[in-house]
Amino acid sequence: MSTSVKDYYQILGVSKDASQDEIKKAFRRLARKYHPDLNPGDKTAEEKFKEINEAYAVLGDPQKRAEYDRAGTAYEFPGFEGFKWSGFEEAFDFGDIFGDIFGTRFGAAEHYARGEDILMEVELTLEDAFTGVTKPISITRTINCDACNSTGAESSQTCPMCRGTGKIQTSKGFFKIAQTCPECHGTGRKITSICKKCGGRGKTVYTESVKVKIPAGVDNGSIVKLRGMGNAGTGGGPAGDLLIEITIRPHPVFKRKGDDIYLQLPVTFGEAAFGAKIEVPTIDGTAVMKLPQGTQGGQRFKLSGKGFISPKTKHRGDEYVDIKIVVPKDIPESAKEAINKIEALYKEDPRKGIRRQ
Ligand SMILES: [Zn+2]
Ligand SMILES: [Zn+2]
Repeated sequence: MSTSVKDYYQILGVSKDASQDEIKKAFRRLARKYHPDLNPGDKTAEEKFKEINEAYAVLGDPQKRAEYDRAGTAYEFPGFEGFKWSGFEEAFDFGDIFGDIFGTRFGAAEHYARGEDILMEVELTLEDAFTGVTKPISITRTINCDACNSTGAESSQTCPMCRGTGKIQTSKGFFKIAQTCPECHGTGRKITSICKKCGGRGKTVYTESVKVKIPAGVDNGSIVKLRGMGNAGTGGGPAGDLLIEITIRPHPVFKRKGDDIYLQLPVTFGEAAFGAKIEVPTIDGTAVMKLPQGTQGGQRFKLSGKGFISPKTKHRGDEYVDIKIVVPKDIPESAKEAINKIEALYKEDPRKGIRRQ
């Protein structure tokens, strides 16, 4: 085989002092333009593509580039007889460049990978979180293309580069090395026409409405997982999961901390002073609470077993009731005298304990 040493800078259309980045960019641009798959049957494009790869195999590698620069055009590159895939594969990462040029075109067939998870948020009322609820939600995800069996191909042929073996032999100095065929990525098949349904991606986008059962007891930030309802995997990999993150809308009456519920209960001066039976709302109904005589504002009472039921332990939390004494804003003349009499009942200063000395 004869070796013709070419001006690689000219082939890539860059100057001799181009940066590695400029070289990489020039290569990508030209590789996109001349790739045989994008120019089927065009021999000139194929030759050009090989030339570009050869040039990049050298200039894309700073060490090889330095050797090439030192030798000038008279230099014969060792083990580099014309075009070689070995140089090509050494020079860069296929995943990188092919992912870049072809997007997901080849992605469908090769790399085995689990599909991505999909995260969705669902907002619930506190009552729904207590009882559990079935929510209809709309999910958009990728699924395997049924028209092409997720190969992305409507038709394919035996890969001409590796003759269907998926491997190619290259020489590197004295050694022969078997490598994954870069043309078909080891599949042994080359796509001759792309699946019309999925555009060659091997996947289609699918939207469906599903009913999601959200269990009783979920809290803010709880995740409900629907296995296999995420995006489709590639290369026969399993689908990802659908993760539903729960957000609980603030409740106008109750506050929740873990499995306990907190409530502020407004009572009158009379109820607090004399004691009373008061109906108190709970998350699933009402309870009657007996307020003792002389109840103080801010005093906390516990209604045992009126909180949330823990989905893990099945233990039921409590409801804590904080007393808030409400004073009338408009006091009629007739009541003022009565209040003055009550004031006289405070035998000592109620703020005695908090006074600065
Ligand atoms: Zn398809
Ligand atoms: Zn091949």
